[in-house]
Amino acid sequence: MINKILFTIFAIVAIWKAFSLISRLQKEGGILAKGSGRQEPSQPPKAGGDTKAVEMVPCPRCGAYIDPRERCNCRT
Ligand SMILES: [Zn+2]
Repeated sequence: MINKILFTIFAIVAIWKAFSLISRLQKEGGILAKGSGRQEPSQPPKAGGDTKAVEMVPCPRCGAYIDPRERCNCRT
């Protein structure tokens, strides 16, 4: 009887330890993945944005959303 209780406690502790270890490994793995630049969790998909992964900025003159690396049509 007492052995069963001890075994149960041991099993719970072992599972808890394993979970904490896995979560720590996932945390470190996430940092590594972030460093490699593969994942972009902070950028949700934008509606109507079929313009690759470029952050669109509004043109200061006409207000149209344009690629910041390119010039707006109104400035040419
Ligand atoms: Zn413009």
